[in-house]
Amino acid sequence: MKINFIDLQAQYQEYKTEIDKEVSEVFASAGFIGGPKLEAFEKNIAAYTGVKHAIGCSSGTDALLLALMALDVKAGDEIITTPFTFIATAEVIAFLGAKPVFADIDEKTYNIDTSKIENLITAKTKAIIPVSLYGQCADMDEINAIADKHGLTVIEDACQSFGAQYKDKRSCALSSIGCTSFFPSKPLGAYGDGGAIFTDDDELASKMRMLLNHGQNERYKHKYIGINGRLDAVQAAILDVKLRHFDKEVKLRQDIGQRYTLLLADADVVTPYIADDRTSVYAQYSIRVKDRAATIAKLSERSIPTAVHYPMPLHLQEAFAYLGYKEGDFPVSEKISNEIMSLPMSPYLTDEQQDFIVAAIKG
Ligand SMILES: *Cc1c(COP(=O)(O)O)cnc(C)c1O
Repeated sequence: MKINFIDLQAQYQEYKTEIDKEVSEVFASAGFIGGPKLEAFEKNIAAYTGVKHAIGCSSGTDALLLALMALDVKAGDEIITTPFTFIATAEVIAFLGAKPVFADIDEKTYNIDTSKIENLITAKTKAIIPVSLYGQCADMDEINAIADKHGLTVIEDACQSFGAQYKDKRSCALSSIGCTSFFPSKPLGAYGDGGAIFTDDDELASKMRMLLNHGQNERYKHKYIGINGRLDAVQAAILDVKLRHFDKEVKLRQDIGQRYTLLLADADVVTPYIADDRTSVYAQYSIRVKDRAATIAKLSERSIPTAVHYPMPLHLQEAFAYLGYKEGDFPVSEKISNEIMSLPMSPYLTDEQQDFIVAAIKG
């Protein structure tokens, strides 16, 4: 049985007519940067998330970078986040010369352990970046309360959680700034790189808009040192088509995620824990197993693709050696990174494929 880790070909076939039409309109107009498709998409994702300003940008990484730049994060500042995430979360902090300060994760949700945050706050702390890992939001109310008490800004790394629900709100609408990614394999994926920044704050929004366009306030007048961080019109047009179908896809992802959990209930694995007051968009369907190498080999024998998100926590990465962390500093992150593995997940995974995967895990 042929199983893709994420079935992007099936998705294109599903929306081909609409996507081809929108993209050929951009080609015909030759307006590749900015323009009506980008404006329409930004308006639509602002409405979707319930945030006043949605700003398209070049990637999730740049969304996080622009958020920190807008807060004037610089050398000497400290930003609190978790070591159990994709490197981009901490990379942008270090890129600006600031210091990533890690807090361990909660063993059930794999998101930042809120009880570990306050001890890490110093006079240099500027912001907290909780990561909504695998598609489930972190404990945003508790995190916002800690931040308010200490005058810090909260930036949600929502690169995996666009579309997730947290209480009565959506991911990206839960803190001062929300950052998401439209990397092709993310729940809402472009056909190349892309991302977006969300905020209700007019001043931050206008600053981030300038920053992603070389700090320009008008053509060739530069108010800030910025970057080229724009989302292009072709990606915006494709994303806008996919957004029309996104609720249906999220529902399919959730049905498939819940079905995995049900089918794996009697297997010797730990399935994802989703808190009662939120939903997951299952950017990954990740389980914990005792012998990961053996499980991956067993699935691979049956041509079932798997992935590991993430095999090495950031505090043990060579690039962050200068921070001086060592093995044992974040025991939960270290334990989970040794046991976690992701199974094939897409709205197009069939029951037969899923049964085959589950049987291979149990066999
Ligand atoms: C994908 C991802 C990013 C980076 O997004 P890109 O669009 O690939 O730059 C950042 N943080 C997390 C948690 C991610 O999963």
